Amino acid sequence: MGYVDEVIERVVAKNPGEPEFHQAVKEVLESLRPVVDANEALYRREAVLERLVEPDRQIKFRVPWVDDKGQVQVNVGYRVQFNNSIGPYKGGLRLHPSVNISIIKFLGFEQVFKNSLTSLPIGGGKGGSDFDPKGKSDREVMAFCQSFMTELNKYIGADVDVPAGDIGTGAREIGYMFGQYKRIRGMYEGVLTGKGLSYGGSLARTEATGYGLLYLTDEMLRCNGKDIKGKTVCISGAGNVAIYACKKAQELGAKVVTVSDSTGYVYDPEGIDLAALKEIKEVKRARLTEYKNYRPNAEYHEGRGVWNIPCDIALPCATQNELTIDDAKALVANGCFAVAEGANMPTTLEATKYLQANGVLFAPGKAANAGGVATSALEMSQNSERLSWTFEEVDSKLKTIMVNIFHNMDDAAKRYNFEGDYVVGANIAGFEKVVDAMLAQGVC
Ligand code: NDP
Repeated sequence: MGYVDEVIERVVAKNPGEPEFHQAVKEVLESLRPVVDANEALYRREAVLERLVEPDRQIKFRVPWVDDKGQVQVNVGYRVQFNNSIGPYKGGLRLHPSVNISIIKFLGFEQVFKNSLTSLPIGGGKGGSDFDPKGKSDREVMAFCQSFMTELNKYIGADVDVPAGDIGTGAREIGYMFGQYKRIRGMYEGVLTGKGLSYGGSLARTEATGYGLLYLTDEMLRCNGKDIKGKTVCISGAGNVAIYACKKAQELGAKVVTVSDSTGYVYDPEGIDLAALKEIKEVKRARLTEYKNYRPNAEYHEGRGVWNIPCDIALPCATQNELTIDDAKALVANGCFAVAEGANMPTTLEATKYLQANGVLFAPGKAANAGGVATSALEMSQNSERLSWTFEEVDSKLKTIMVNIFHNMDDAAKRYNFEGDYVVGANIAGFEKVVDAMLAQGVC
């Protein structure tokens, strides 16, 4: 049995009941075969893969808080510090009832390579809780965040581990957590990113993941002789990533015809009305069913189905495993020629393989959505300098980073004779830098 298969088998055996983590390890390690095969003796001796798949540490803790009725609630908190070979741990905090150790480990593992791809000095980590901010009062959210940070603060710091937002963790939650960190530790430092602009946040961070997704997609299309202008785009999700992906896609001249949430999707053949979408999701925090009140000609459909709408470009921006093999078949049958992942691992392994086998340009999330973490790293730089850059400065750096990410993954794929396979290219490009740093730092 080859080294890659041995390690995958051991990960599955040693981490039972963690299917998302198994999936992420499998996806990454399988695509690293060319580089692992070329260096097998060295990597085996140095146990490179075994060290990569075992987090530096995983922290699990109780988060007790009191709800508005005076009832004590108990959630579980996690922080997985995966690898800090190239910089302090960096990765978001997910607040969602589905959160468990498997999901946090899959996200943390992917984050290592994503962060490396940005070319910025940040290691990989991820955290969160099974707390659901939906339907909670501001006071309840604050009580949870303060309790969460009362424990988490022991493990993080501006040069140690710098968490950020993710699903369910927006500016409000980051604010409450930052306040509690400051209070407990008695210091003002850039320990979290995604902060409000009045206390160390970066301009363009809100837009960064969605904009970055489009900068990379645009470059991928350009380098493959295509133009985004005039193309029809389907987007899933209606959260932070989806909204700003929609905005930049429209700015680049594409027509976005769908958005979705966990209950259904909107199909607007005339093109999504961004102002209406922002009002529904960012101001009213309401369901997409409201969209028809703004655009009577649009259709709202309950449940899944967004990928059955014909499009040239698909941008999954909601959650993991939301684009299945059946969806991939529908996209190909309808003539879709590019898929770029705004969310983390939204496309199943089977669907990814089907899309690639059918000539669809496929940009994996760890490259395509790296604009968020890259801009978080730019927030860290601004905090260290105690300066704030303009929106244009940050946006222009973001664009350069995304274009470079595309070329790094494109070059890595070409070097190993996998031209056009950006999954392989992204994993190899991210992996090479981390491994180089690990080997240079000895056995640790
Ligand atoms: P948000 O919480 O802002 O939005 C998530 C969106 O996805 C919501 O519209 C939500 O709908 C929808 N959604 C969630 N679960 C499902 C589901 N099972 N089926 C259909 N829709 C669903 O999160 P973000 O936009 O920040 O994140 C989206 C994805 O992008 C995640 O995978 C995240 O990890 C990834 N990502 C985010 C970054 C960022 O900077 N924000 C950076 C890099 C990656 P509803 O409101 O109904 O739950």
